[in-house]
Amino acid sequence: MTTSIKHFINGQETPGSGGATQPVYNPATGQVSAELHLAGQEDLDATVAAARTAADAWAEASIAKRTAVLFKFRELLAASRDELAAIVTSEHGKVLSDAAGEVGRGLEVVEYACGVSQSLKGEFSDQVATGIDVHSFRQPVGVVAGITPFNFPVMVPLWMAPVAIATGNAFILKPSERDPSASVFIARLWKQAGLPDGVFSVLHGGKETVDGLLTHPDVDAISFVGSTPIAKYVHETATAHGKRVQALGGAKNHAVVMPDADMDVAADHLTAAAFGSAGQRCMAISVAVAVGEAGDLVVDKLIQRANDVKVAEGTVPDADMGPVITPQSKARIQRIVGEAEQDGAAILVDGRDLVVQDHEDGFFVGPTLVDRVTSEMSAYTEEIFGPVLVLVRVDTLEEAIELVNANPYGNGTAIFTSSGYAARTYTRRIHVGMVGVNVPLPVPVAWHSFGGWKDSLFGDHHIYGPDGVRFYTRGKAVTTRWPEVSEASGASFAFPSSG
Ligand code: NAD
Repeated sequence: MTTSIKHFINGQETPGSGGATQPVYNPATGQVSAELHLAGQEDLDATVAAARTAADAWAEASIAKRTAVLFKFRELLAASRDELAAIVTSEHGKVLSDAAGEVGRGLEVVEYACGVSQSLKGEFSDQVATGIDVHSFRQPVGVVAGITPFNFPVMVPLWMAPVAIATGNAFILKPSERDPSASVFIARLWKQAGLPDGVFSVLHGGKETVDGLLTHPDVDAISFVGSTPIAKYVHETATAHGKRVQALGGAKNHAVVMPDADMDVAADHLTAAAFGSAGQRCMAISVAVAVGEAGDLVVDKLIQRANDVKVAEGTVPDADMGPVITPQSKARIQRIVGEAEQDGAAILVDGRDLVVQDHEDGFFVGPTLVDRVTSEMSAYTEEIFGPVLVLVRVDTLEEAIELVNANPYGNGTAIFTSSGYAARTYTRRIHVGMVGVNVPLPVPVAWHSFGGWKDSLFGDHHIYGPDGVRFYTRGKAVTTRWPEVSEASGASFAFPSSG
């Protein structure tokens, strides 16, 4: 018997009126685990209408009232960490420790949002002209829709909702249809925390539902995270409909390994960053760029470590890596590795045909290491989004910088080196939004914002942290004069200037 996953509209779980459903799979077994209800137009209209009403009231709630809900939500979320991690593992496939880590990073954003009062403090200028003061402050944008990818079903929605809600907006989450249960679980926690109905809703669906949100006149802003073609489409469509949009896209993250790096440290980190979560992280390292003799120094260490990765169902206690999300994803990975082989690359570790015992129908691909990859090969140009690390060899740091800067993506990058000069040169000249120095996955903590450059982000704002607060609010500047009751008006027809 499969369970049915419902929408969360105006504080209630409901199958909605759409009628259509879609299966959700456990990728480790290849079996259907649940049926997901997909929204129809009526559900979408009802959700937006409830959000509109709720947003108006929530914006009037004091900061103290709003943050009291955030603090309570934080406690509930922290207490639910293991339960949520298990939900993530069952639908996404990542190992339990990784899923718990994802909840932890989401929790960080909730904690940041608990302190939103600091970020909402306005500015005040006394006596800008005689008897005149100016103050500026920020107000919520209204109804925000968040559209999220499959690879972080807890963390990415929590990059958005806590900040949007703390700043006084209503938030509609359209989660990935591949692993939607975590979103409904989170909706229940918000309700338990005392959030008024309609301030946080979950609406399930695919393209039709997304299009409905992008074009709905009562949705004010869109936060999107997903692949680059969809991010671009979302940005174009929603801005054409007058909305504020931040749309984070895909990635091809390079790690440069300098010859002076500690090769054991580099190999350890590259292995974890390439194969963790089966490579399905937007910050995964998918390209190692070895400079000079670093290639020969690091390659055997990478082979050994890739062979040591334990691939298993995510609940197995010592598993390092689980399956990929769909059979289509597995087929895409196999195709791209095959093309690299045909184009002359060396497949040093080949996980294409891995079978996990007792999980023969699961969507598993083993760690795969491909050497001698060039920038023309599909293994370099395409975002593989699987457990594949490609090795590109260059002669100098300058060449490495040119390679990374020529890539259309600009999400994350890292450099492994013991030279401060090389690290500084790289971090300053690289056209990438997030950079790590001897840190492979430089995902900023919650009080710095997260975002890539180039085709990895469309829009002006990064997500969560200070940029999140700016994105979910609009600035207002107020110029005030309080004349004495007896003062004559003496209004001038000249354009006002200080004095
Ligand atoms: P995706 O683009 O397929 O889907 C993302 C969301 O868009 C989902 O909610 C989906 O239902 C919706 N969607 C899919 N096709 C659509 C269409 N044609 N029209 C409108 N909406 C559509 O992405 P995914 O496969 O779920 O996630 C993986 C991708 O997300 C990778 O490219 C990864 O790099 C990227 N990602 C980026 C970041 C980042 O911070 N930049 C973070 C996580 C994931």
